[in-house]
Amino acid sequence: MELICPICNGLQSLKAVCPQCGQLLLDGGTIEDYWGAYSPYVDKDTLHTNQYGEQKYCVHLIYCPECYYDIRKAWEMVII
Ligand SMILES: [Zn+2]
Ligand SMILES: [Zn+2]
Repeated sequence: MELICPICNGLQSLKAVCPQCGQLLLDGGTIEDYWGAYSPYVDKDTLHTNQYGEQKYCVHLIYCPECYYDIRKAWEMVII
């Protein structure tokens, strides 16, 4: 058994559209890459792990290629 992110592993597509212009949003990758900027404010451990200390969510930055709108969205990890 392994916990994986359905987005990172291509099991699921984003299927999200930009609320500003209706373009399909693209995956900008996980925000693990961006933690440097947020780490003073976000407690990663309590936010993203369950009681067993396993990672519970994978947070991605998704963005609009048209108007550069971007949001962060957490996907629940799935067990394979
Ligand atoms: Zn992911
Ligand atoms: Zn847009």
